[in-house]
Amino acid sequence: MRSLPNIIITGTPGVGKTTTITELLNLAQSAEPPIPLKHLSINDIVKSRDFEKEISDGEGEGGFIIDWHSTAGFAVRWVDLVLVVRCAATDVLYDRLSKRGYKEEKIQENMDAEIFGVVLEEAKEGWEEEQVIELSSVNAEDVETNAERILSWIKTWVLNQQHESKESG
Ligand code: ADP
Repeated sequence: MRSLPNIIITGTPGVGKTTTITELLNLAQSAEPPIPLKHLSINDIVKSRDFEKEISDGEGEGGFIIDWHSTAGFAVRWVDLVLVVRCAATDVLYDRLSKRGYKEEKIQENMDAEIFGVVLEEAKEGWEEEQVIELSSVNAEDVETNAERILSWIKTWVLNQQHESKESG
């Protein structure tokens, strides 16, 4: 049994996954006692091809915060919580993607995916309803609020886990 939950932070490109995770890891590091979370950016890992090493090094203890625009391909029982970051303000999302240098067609494709909630639907197909949570990330304040919520879920998960293992002996 892992001692920390594995969490996927997913959503359309530009919704704020990486920003939220950076804030979450800061909060977790300064928590008392610090919570050792590991940012698993699939983008970076695919580039470095170190995915298997990263996973096997820390498989037992959990605490992976997976940063990816999709939930496809992840083993359902390896992931405890799926957080779908959303940006319903299309003008805001447009600006973020255009600042990233995406071409008009790619921006439109991603905006459509966000409007139709493609990533959310995909997550719901794989996980139980109570494991899939939407987080809105439009304004700067949302980043901190969301990171705080995630950290408090992690703490609750740990307490429940300890409680369960005590009960089962
Ligand atoms: P993703 O990881 O989902 O592709 P990022 O975290 O890289 O998205 O965010 C994309 C851009 O949007 C970044 O420039 C980031 O600073 C900005 N951003 C993300 N979330 C917010 C927010 N809640 N408020 C303001 N700006 C945000």
